[in-house]
Amino acid sequence: MNFPTRFLPRVPRPAGLPPRENPASGPATTRAAEGRGALLARIALFIETHDLAVTAGNLATICGGLSGSHRELAQAFAAREISGEPIDQRWLDTLGRFDPEGQSRIAGLEALMDKLEYSLMRFAQTARSAQSETSDHRGALGAQIEAMAEVALAPDAAGELAQVLDLSRAMLARIEQVEAAMARSQEETERLRENLAKARMEADVDHLTGLPNRRAFERRLVSASLEARAKGESLSVAFCDVDRFKTINDRHGHEAGDRVLCAVAATLNEHAGNACFVARHGGEEFVLLFYGMDKQAACVRLDAIRRAQAARQLINRDTGQPFGRVTFSAGVAEVTEDADSRSALGRADAALYRAKEAGRNRVVVG
Ligand code: GH3
Ligand code: MG
Ligand code: MG
Repeated sequence: MNFPTRFLPRVPRPAGLPPRENPASGPATTRAAEGRGALLARIALFIETHDLAVTAGNLATICGGLSGSHRELAQAFAAREISGEPIDQRWLDTLGRFDPEGQSRIAGLEALMDKLEYSLMRFAQTARSAQSETSDHRGALGAQIEAMAEVALAPDAAGELAQVLDLSRAMLARIEQVEAAMARSQEETERLRENLAKARMEADVDHLTGLPNRRAFERRLVSASLEARAKGESLSVAFCDVDRFKTINDRHGHEAGDRVLCAVAATLNEHAGNACFVARHGGEEFVLLFYGMDKQAACVRLDAIRRAQAARQLINRDTGQPFGRVTFSAGVAEVTEDADSRSALGRADAALYRAKEAGRNRVVVG
């Protein structure tokens, strides 16, 4: 397969290396090693050129797209080249739909957590009921011992009875020990369950803005689109990207940039309303799900949020300097238009690109 020039950067041969033999004439193993080396160099250069993070997910996607080993990825890379749209993290993320293995790994992990939660819940139930049964037995045995003790004190009481009494007392002490151990283990199980629920919640939250993160959004996208399809309702998705955010960082510093991100997150959250799920997708990008709304309705709602954000005067509290108008651009797409819910992300991304091209601070429908 031939790849567009943008994806096939030429790698200069480092100085000092012997001249490369004609790959077609060398032994097959040398050719294979050359092929591997060239592919690795292309992947590295691709990551450098487009300023992408070196993550396992990015490497897998880029390798699939550049090597041609994954037909759909290679086609998506070629289509991007033709459209001239930017090659960035958000676009790469939208290609996650071509990674069924990754999807099923996440689903597997979720299923494992569900199982663990269920097992803990069952164990806590069993421990509780075992503890209450033991407590009943202890009560009954205690009453029995007291009755026996009165008989044993009588002058004509046999020595065997005293022995049985001692034995019963030892049994009672043992039961009390078991009961205390069960109470401890029940407490421990409850703590584990609470920790698991907390860890789950934390794994879904973006720590800067407090909004749900991309992981939470992806799960929500799947469940919301299944529900919308089952009920025959509309569902739309939007990508929002803060305009010229790099300039804010450059002028005011990264920490002030973080505060601006929190302010934009707050505007999105405040104005989105109940029928909308807002998350931080990463960097200065946010994503919204509009329940029961087709793309036109979602666009109207999002445009109102955009105007609210553009009207806000943000001041750098450290320096007293205004940040200037902080705006965002957005692209909207209808999830239920297509059988593959994740492909709507690609359409929303393309619409966002058009919003940027058209001058920013606007919402475009895909
Ligand atoms: P455009 O209007 O085209 O979107 O321009 P831009 O400057 O917003 O776009 P670009 O993607 O070039 O810059 C995004 C910047 O956001 C680059 C990166 O350093 C910054 N950024 C990403 N994540 C964070 C973060 O968590 N905090 C801060 N302060 N900056 C971040
Ligand atoms: Mg961006
Ligand atoms: Mg931006």
